Amino acid sequence: MFGKKDGFDPYYDLKIEESLAKNEYPVKKLETARTSEHTSLCAQVCTPEVWEKYKDIESSGPAKWTLARAINTGVLYPESFVGCHAGDKESYDDFADFFHPVIEAYHKGFSMKEGSLLKGTPSQRMDPSRISVELSDSAQSKIVSTRIRIARNLSMFPLNPGGTRESREEVVGLMAKVYKQIDTDSDLAGDFYLHSKMSNDERQALVDGHFLFRGKDKMQAASGYHEYWPHGRGVYLNKDKTFINWVNEGDHLRIISMEMGGDVKAVFSRLSAGAKLIEDAVREISAEDDVFMMHPKFGAVTCCPSNIGTGMRGSVHIMVPKLIEAVGFDEIDRLCRERNCQARGSTGEHSKVLDRIDVSNWRRIGFPEYELVEDMINCANFLSSEEDKL
Ligand code: ADP
Ligand code: MG
Repeated sequence: MFGKKDGFDPYYDLKIEESLAKNEYPVKKLETARTSEHTSLCAQVCTPEVWEKYKDIESSGPAKWTLARAINTGVLYPESFVGCHAGDKESYDDFADFFHPVIEAYHKGFSMKEGSLLKGTPSQRMDPSRISVELSDSAQSKIVSTRIRIARNLSMFPLNPGGTRESREEVVGLMAKVYKQIDTDSDLAGDFYLHSKMSNDERQALVDGHFLFRGKDKMQAASGYHEYWPHGRGVYLNKDKTFINWVNEGDHLRIISMEMGGDVKAVFSRLSAGAKLIEDAVREISAEDDVFMMHPKFGAVTCCPSNIGTGMRGSVHIMVPKLIEAVGFDEIDRLCRERNCQARGSTGEHSKVLDRIDVSNWRRIGFPEYELVEDMINCANFLSSEEDKL
């Protein structure tokens, strides 16, 4: 079933963990989490000392974010990988002794002291001619589809976990004006669909086609992503469904380019053009110079620390059935991680492998976008050659 049930629904509604609701340190849950093998970065970093330091402060931004809200997902679901979220841009520095170590633990090699802002404009860094590796013929033949997205938030609103129904609806209102402005003759021209006006069948068809976020995710609900569902959510699709914007899944915007097959350069090139078009149009309509929320040390600000920096995840869906059979998903993920990539299931994060595996770049900071695409291509070539050996 798609869509929220009446009454409290753990898949959609925000529940604050019991101790956190009383603003008390969740001793048992975090200590148990720290001793288990799979523990969230949130549990590792949020020691009693860190909690004491921040428990009574609020972020200086519009969300008035608290540490209790920030760590709710990781406390309720210690098996999550990151398990914490920012409510506004300011949260990242106002809770520095919490968020900075989380950021450094996720983005290995990156230091918050030094930072690593990238040189050049996004269009230069997303120039497909700079990609210096190719998918092998054997990898090409196994690739079902390619998708590259960037996560962006608009600087004039709180991040959604710290926002309201109104702030989400204002984001949707602004984006509706942006989409109206796109030249109808352009390849990027299309329509904006609101969740509050789509039927369940229409939504489900888009989800099944990999064009739309699923909703209904306990971890995302615990982060506050799904609050006020289905209000203030939407998706923009060009006519070919190759240029897509998710509005208010979690981040305000996911700007996505995707198509069947493995023409990575074409996908990257469309993303570059589309991202520029959106940024320029928001700037014109909002009359704000700083369109996207940017941090002076790491770049794009996102709700989840895993996406900060470039906010880019480039993936291919690859068919490697023999490898899955021989070594299993977790081992494939480990092999991917050795190559600065990760593996996800067939329908996205936290999903199972049905047939294909989603292989994408793991790093997001300190490397130009085209190099992250190269990571993904190299990893797909590797998995394909392993499959061919079996
Ligand atoms: P994101 O990192 O953008 O949040 P998710 O893992 O949540 O991505 O997946 C979102 C949707 O995009 C899912 O339906 C997923 O299957 C789809 N998707 C991801 N990569 C590809 C790809 N290469 N081809 C087709 N669909 C994809
Ligand atoms: Mg996601």
